[in-house]
Amino acid sequence: MKPFRIVNARIVTSQGIIEGDILVEPPFIIEVGRVSKQTATVFDVEGRYVLPGAIDLHVHFRQPGLEYKATIETESKAALRGGVTSFIDMPNTIPETTSYTAWRDKMNIAQELSWINYAFYPGVTPDNIDELPEWAHHPNIPAVKAFLARSTGNLLINLEEFEHLLEIIDVPVAVHSELESIVRNNSLKLKNEYFPEIHMYVRPPEACYQATQSVISLARKYHKHVHILHLSTKEEVDLLIKDKPETVSIETCPQYLFFDSSDYYHWGNWIKCNPSIKRTQDREALQKALNSVIDTIGTDHAPHLVSEKIRPYWKAPSGIPSIEGLIPLMTTFVENGNISWHRLVQLISTNPAKIYKINARGDISEGMYADLVVLEQQTWKMCSSYHKCGWNPYLYRELPYKVVQVFVNGTLSYVDEGQPRWIVRNPMPLRFR
Ligand SMILES: [Zn+2]
Repeated sequence: MKPFRIVNARIVTSQGIIEGDILVEPPFIIEVGRVSKQTATVFDVEGRYVLPGAIDLHVHFRQPGLEYKATIETESKAALRGGVTSFIDMPNTIPETTSYTAWRDKMNIAQELSWINYAFYPGVTPDNIDELPEWAHHPNIPAVKAFLARSTGNLLINLEEFEHLLEIIDVPVAVHSELESIVRNNSLKLKNEYFPEIHMYVRPPEACYQATQSVISLARKYHKHVHILHLSTKEEVDLLIKDKPETVSIETCPQYLFFDSSDYYHWGNWIKCNPSIKRTQDREALQKALNSVIDTIGTDHAPHLVSEKIRPYWKAPSGIPSIEGLIPLMTTFVENGNISWHRLVQLISTNPAKIYKINARGDISEGMYADLVVLEQQTWKMCSSYHKCGWNPYLYRELPYKVVQVFVNGTLSYVDEGQPRWIVRNPMPLRFR
């Protein structure tokens, strides 16, 4: 592919902003800043921000087995609208990704269908723990995923099994840190009740806090890298401020930053997700922690059909789709002064790349893959959804920036000049370690 330049850019790296140009020889970035080499193709972005593509370490694209909710093709296309150029998908599909064969099948599907770079977590079950270390060190596997509480699907291990896993595994472990025993007891206690914020009582702060306490101490005991997913409480933030081992990394998700328990009255099951959205003090503590203990934003993009979400509380599935809004949503926190531009880049791109040692992605500098997102300052609203399920809870919310161009591996893949258009597909499997 021919080299090209992106000129007149405000280039946001993990360190700050550089005004200048980017020389790309696909798939790589060759030069950043003052570029003297001429190229036939030039993209003049007229002072717009250019960010490294977001790397979303936490998505549920539902394929195989749940294609009626979403597919790798539909969701990876929607992801481009949110400035996401790489995803790592969770194992709770059908079949579950608990064997090498099931993992390999997903890689093959993504190679055929994905619009962005991809990888897949194997899931941990009581039955596969002892054989996982034999194949989980594959260079295309980022980490294994452990559920300490049941969510969509049946993947579940207890704390003793989690400890055993840490003893024997030499790849990172991503963990849903919430205690199943507490969730089960509350579900039994409340099973004949309904009130708007019930989900926060079925899955209360202490279920997360107690699990996270144990997870942190086990990560320290075995010196193993544990990536704690979807942090949702102030208590966990406070714990981590006091005591965050070097081997622990932390994710939160847009829904815990934008919603709190006061929203259940209006939103009901639309914002039912696991762990639950909690109190105002949790949302505020998490927003503040974007500048401290939180390392990354994963969407936990978890699509369900409208017809499933309008069921009564006890029958409605948990999960919120959001990937098509990721970068525009997060620029809200830049616009209101909560985080800087370069902190945004660290949260969505640089840190995710560091967490799993993703090869040559996560920043804008020489030698990196040219996964680039052009952002236009523009007050706008998502008035329709490109997720297969057709909705997200951020529709009609005012957003300060819009994704207008996305390059994946140096290929222009997406353009929005008023209407999203998908141009050319050029994804690669992610490589780790
Ligand atoms: Zn999830």
